[in-house]
Amino acid sequence: MLAMIFDGVSSALRETHVADPVVGAGDLLIDVHACGVCRTDLHVVDHELTSPKIPLIPGHEIVGVVAEAGSGVLDFKPGDRVGVPWLGHTCGHCHYCLQHRENLCDTPGFTGYTINGGYAEKTVADSRYCLHLPSGYGDAEAAPLLCAGVIGYRTLEMAGDARRIGIYGFGAAAHIVAQVARHQGRAVYAFTRPGDTAAQQLALRSGAQWAGSSDEAAPEELDAALIFAPVGALVPVALKALSKGGIVVCGGIHMSDIPTFSYDLLWEERRVCSVANLTRQDGAAFMRLAGELVLEIQVTQYSMSDANRALDDLRAGRLTGAAVLVMPKAFQRQL
Ligand SMILES: [Zn+2]
Ligand SMILES: [Zn+2]
Repeated sequence: MLAMIFDGVSSALRETHVADPVVGAGDLLIDVHACGVCRTDLHVVDHELTSPKIPLIPGHEIVGVVAEAGSGVLDFKPGDRVGVPWLGHTCGHCHYCLQHRENLCDTPGFTGYTINGGYAEKTVADSRYCLHLPSGYGDAEAAPLLCAGVIGYRTLEMAGDARRIGIYGFGAAAHIVAQVARHQGRAVYAFTRPGDTAAQQLALRSGAQWAGSSDEAAPEELDAALIFAPVGALVPVALKALSKGGIVVCGGIHMSDIPTFSYDLLWEERRVCSVANLTRQDGAAFMRLAGELVLEIQVTQYSMSDANRALDDLRAGRLTGAAVLVMPKAFQRQL
């Protein structure tokens, strides 16, 4: 099969013919139709995350069809549409797994990082971590639900019942979270890179009642701030915008350093926390919600061979919404 390979040295992926993956007990062999390009993929190829599997096929927002089910698979059969998210394996017996916090497992496996992912014609995944996808979304539109959607949803849940939500960094995750937050009756304020009017327009279309630059003051005090941009300097900026008792939730896996700030910004029970990974429960809950709501997913499609261009566009901030790689056959069908 054809695959885009990260060799651990160059940030540019190599398009290479590799052997088809082999399905084991409990696994699914999947024909990949689409795979989202997440900022985490950039952190991997740009060496900001340590110890990826090498060589690696990146990609953890995989939408495909089951070609073969290994022995013991109960939930899927050949021909089923399937989604493969970031969480690819947990141990099931560490302290965190036993406490229903498998997102924090001590020995996890992550799709497109420590397990081969979906920048390829086929992939194999442990069926226990795969998700059924809501109908009503095309393959390319469903892909961003698998990480931008699920992790965004977990980030929003961390904000509790906060009513006034600020979102810093308005890309794939934010445009989904904003729609969910609006549906829940919350007010959304979007902060983008200064001058990024395309992202501000997307924010307004996604239900934000205000969109501006991250260097502008918020029009109202915020009860929660969700940070999706990998920019540590936004943490004190967001803290400054919070009401008493408010929370800053950092939704990304990697951020530049957070500058020192005065304790005054944290005083009055403000909090800063991060979101790590997802549980299978998060995945199932969000897919149920995505099936109930009609989410508008803004997608820019690239063919799989064009993965490097998609990553470059994401790195340079040239994208509005989510980048998705589509397999040539699926690409033709959707055009
Ligand atoms: Zn564990
Ligand atoms: Zn991701």
